[in-house]
Amino acid sequence: MKSMLIRNGHIVTASDQFKGDILIQDGKIAAIGRDLKVQTLETIDALGKYIFPGGIDAHIHMEVPCSDGSISAGYDTDSIAAAVGGTTTILDYVLQENGRSLEESVSRWSEKSKLSAIDYGFHLIITQANDRTFNELNLLVEQGITSFKLFMANDIAMTDKELFRFMSEFKIQGCTACIHAENKEIIATLQEQYVSQGNISPTYHAKSRPEPTEVEAINRAITLSELTGCITLIAHISTSRGLKLVQEAKDRGIPVLAETCPHYLLLSEDKYELEGHESAKYVLSPPLRNPDNFEGLWSGVLNGAVNIIASDHNGFYYSTHKQLGKEDFRKIPNGAPGIEHRFSLIYHHGMKRGMELSRFVELVSTNPAKIFGLYPQKGTIAPGSDADLILFDPEAEQVITAKNQYQKSDYTPYEQTKIQGKIDTVLLRGERIVYQGKYVGTLGKGNYLKRTIQ
Ligand code: MN
Repeated sequence: MKSMLIRNGHIVTASDQFKGDILIQDGKIAAIGRDLKVQTLETIDALGKYIFPGGIDAHIHMEVPCSDGSISAGYDTDSIAAAVGGTTTILDYVLQENGRSLEESVSRWSEKSKLSAIDYGFHLIITQANDRTFNELNLLVEQGITSFKLFMANDIAMTDKELFRFMSEFKIQGCTACIHAENKEIIATLQEQYVSQGNISPTYHAKSRPEPTEVEAINRAITLSELTGCITLIAHISTSRGLKLVQEAKDRGIPVLAETCPHYLLLSEDKYELEGHESAKYVLSPPLRNPDNFEGLWSGVLNGAVNIIASDHNGFYYSTHKQLGKEDFRKIPNGAPGIEHRFSLIYHHGMKRGMELSRFVELVSTNPAKIFGLYPQKGTIAPGSDADLILFDPEAEQVITAKNQYQKSDYTPYEQTKIQGKIDTVLLRGERIVYQGKYVGTLGKGNYLKRTIQ
C-alpha cells in the first residue's frame, strides 16, 4: 500500500483550522490527527505551511476556437499551469460543436482532455437549442455531466422561450444551469452603432456592454430560475448591482448562485484606455467595470453573496489570437488567461481585505465541489476524501509575470503583481505533482470526474 505522512501542517478546511498530521493511503486521506504514529514510505514536513484542499476551478475553457481557425492553449500546457497554481480539479466548458450532438461533442473533447495533468469534469455549452439537443440531456447526465451553460448574449444566445424550456427540463433532471447573463439585442445594437461611426478599437468592446446590459439579464435569469425552480448559477458576475440582485433572490428562496472572477475583483475599465491595440488583452465578457463595483463585489466575497470564484480561463495569446479584430473589436476573441494565478491572487487580496482562511477555502474549493457534485471526494480535507492537497508557504513572496508562467499565453493580465504567499507542493490523489513551485508530474494522470446529481 502506498502511504505518505504530512507532519505539522496548519490544516485549513471551509469549517475549521487546526495543527496536525495527515496520513495518506492509496491516494486518499486515511487519517488526520496530532502526532500520528505510523510508518510510511514517505514523510513531508509541513511546519510553517498551510495545508489547503486542492483548488477547484469551476469555469475554464481549453482549446477555444478563434475566427481564423486557430485555437487557444489546451490541456498539454494549461492543465499543468492549473496544477502549479494550486488547482487540482477543473471543470471545463465543452462547446457543442456546430451541427453535432452534445454526445459527439463530448466524445471528441474527451480525446483532448485525456492529456490532463489534473482531475477534470465537464460542463456543456449548449449552442443548438433544438429537439435533438433537448432529447439527449438525460444521456449526458448518465455520463456525469450535470451542468449546462446557456447564453443570453452573443451569437449562440437562447431566446427566453428556449431558456425556459431547457431550464424546466434541468429542474426535472436535477441539473444546474450556468448562465451567461448579458442582454444580446442591446449589445448588438450598440456594437453596430459604434462600428458604423468608425469606433472599432477595443475600448468600444466595453462601451457596447454597459452595466445595465448585465443587470437586466441577471434579473431575467433570476426570473427564469424562480419560474422553473432550476438551480441557476449566474456565471462571472461583474457588477455590484447584479450581485445584489442575486443576494435578494437568495433571500426570497430562489435557487440562484453567484460566481465571480479575479479580474472583476482586481482589474477595472481603465485597461481599455491603453495604447494601440494593447487593451485587447483585457477584452472579455462581461467587460471590466468601473472600480465603483469593487466594494460591492468584495463584500459579497467576504460575506457570503458570492458562492464561487472561478478564473474563466482562456489561453489566448496577444501576439496572435488577440490581433484578430484590429479592424473591428467584435472579432477580438473574448477571454484572458487566469488558470494559474486564481488561487494565489484571491489568497493575497483576500487576506489584505481581512478574509478568513476558511472562507478562502470555501470559495476556491469547497463550494465548487458541493455545487457541482464532487463533494466530499473533492473540496475538503477529511478521511475518505481524495488526497488533493496544497502546501502553501504564507511567508514566501512571488511576482506574477508572463515570462515565468506555465500558462502558454504570452501575457498575463496581472503582470508584475506582487503576491504574498506561494504554493510549494501540490498533491493529486497523494502523488506529488508540484514540488518547490515546479511541476514534477506527468501529463495524462488526471482522471475524468463523473459527477452526480446533488
Ligand atoms: Mn467563460
